[in-house]
Amino acid sequence: MDRTELSEAIIQDVGAIVAEELRAAGSELLTADLDGIETRLQAVSRRVCGATLERVLAVRAAPRGERPPCPACGGLLRIVDQARGRDLQGLTGDATLIRPTYVCTRADCGRGHAPLDAELGLGAETLMPRLARVVCRAGITGAFDEAAAQVREDHSVAVGGETVRRVTEAVGAVAEAAQQEEIARARRGDLTRPPGGARDMVVAVDGCQVHLEDAWHEMKVGRAAPLGPALRSDHRSGRTYLAWGTAAICAGLEGAEDCWWRVAVTAWRAGLGQQTRRVVVLGDGAEWIWNRAAHFLGGPGVVVVEILDLFHAYEHLWAAGRAVFDAPDALAAWAEPLKDALYEQGAPAVLAALDALVPPGPTAADVVRRERAYVADNAARMDYPRYVAAQLPIGSGAVESLCKTLIEAREKGAGMRWTRAGAQAVATLRAVRASGDWAAFWATHPLRTRLRLCPPARPRRRATAVAPAPVEDVQPLARPAPPAEVPPPAPAPSGTADPAVPARRPAATHPWRRAPIGRARCA
Ligand SMILES: [Zn+2]
Repeated sequence: MDRTELSEAIIQDVGAIVAEELRAAGSELLTADLDGIETRLQAVSRRVCGATLERVLAVRAAPRGERPPCPACGGLLRIVDQARGRDLQGLTGDATLIRPTYVCTRADCGRGHAPLDAELGLGAETLMPRLARVVCRAGITGAFDEAAAQVREDHSVAVGGETVRRVTEAVGAVAEAAQQEEIARARRGDLTRPPGGARDMVVAVDGCQVHLEDAWHEMKVGRAAPLGPALRSDHRSGRTYLAWGTAAICAGLEGAEDCWWRVAVTAWRAGLGQQTRRVVVLGDGAEWIWNRAAHFLGGPGVVVVEILDLFHAYEHLWAAGRAVFDAPDALAAWAEPLKDALYEQGAPAVLAALDALVPPGPTAADVVRRERAYVADNAARMDYPRYVAAQLPIGSGAVESLCKTLIEAREKGAGMRWTRAGAQAVATLRAVRASGDWAAFWATHPLRTRLRLCPPARPRRRATAVAPAPVEDVQPLARPAPPAEVPPPAPAPSGTADPAVPARRPAATHPWRRAPIGRARCA
């Protein structure tokens, strides 16, 4: 069969469908307002595109005479079904893909395969890649049910919240696996600081809490960017400082050591290379940040400048002040000038002010003692006059907004509880997007990669064999029945399957069908 151009029969066939659809829509198109016309045309377009897609796929599925080896073990494949159907949902239309499926004949493998699925870039899901990308972007932006409603509204595609969750988390797992692979290479020494790189770099790190199924856990976030040589001015303070370049961002639900590996690899990607001479590390007072910063970001000929985020320092002033002063006016009268003193003179001015406080009782004295210890411990990181003179960043939201915009905005909604893998998957995807790598990531065909990472399980033996359909002459497909009207948005009840797509179910061998149902939803 000629595979380089569509047959005249298909073109004629699709042409007839277009004509029929337009005839059916005619009266509506001539009487409705623009909103109604667009809605109707969108429905026409989905049906025509779906019918075209189905015919194109039938051509692609026609037998080519060769039997591919098992992609998992290289063993011989045996045909299971000459024409197994698989329902697909797409951004432009829905279609049924009918193609041969195989099973590996080696007893120790026995996996099922559909080579055309891999060739087409399909994963284990019903969604085609372009729709999966749209669904995934919606799923990392808002709660899964909300995202499903948004996709329905924007594209007239019926997906449920549970589908959005599954696809988003599956694709996020692929992104996370790629990062872990990079980190593993770095740990082995196969991946090192790249040659070149920016002369100055800034790395900001912070942590925030995410509610997992068992308890709250810390999600650590990092942002790395070249620093300068361009300058930027803050019109409010009149300060001039080195501008941040394009940042690479990462997030991980992990311990300090693992997180530092992630931050280091992210910083290398952002421009921390062998030519880098200075790395500014911005953070709050958390121990884990300062313990290992110099180890992971420094090196011979590299100066690491540790700076405590100015706003975190302010918070500690307020904490000490609140313990001592009851009246808001008195508190402000003490704290506000001290903020200026901290900015202009650094830690010594604050230490002197804390020493001069007279706590009203033992509890207040404890607080003041604790805050004084904090300032004393971090005094070297609070040398703001020197940093300002050197035009270095001192915080002002760079660290503060990191967790809020990247993690909390999506993962800390009311009542949200996450599986560890789900929270990590969404965080990783949000970091990929915030780093400007979204398009590049989708160019790696994550759905196909997902299939490689989590291949379908061995098929279970069936009591009745499926009679193979003749495959020699692929008949032109009958025109599919027009899909049902898009149902109105209905939130998926917790722990249930998708209510919005009951008519389009993949075959029973799909791995996600066997996923435990009823585990904690993570909104
Ligand atoms: Zn095999």
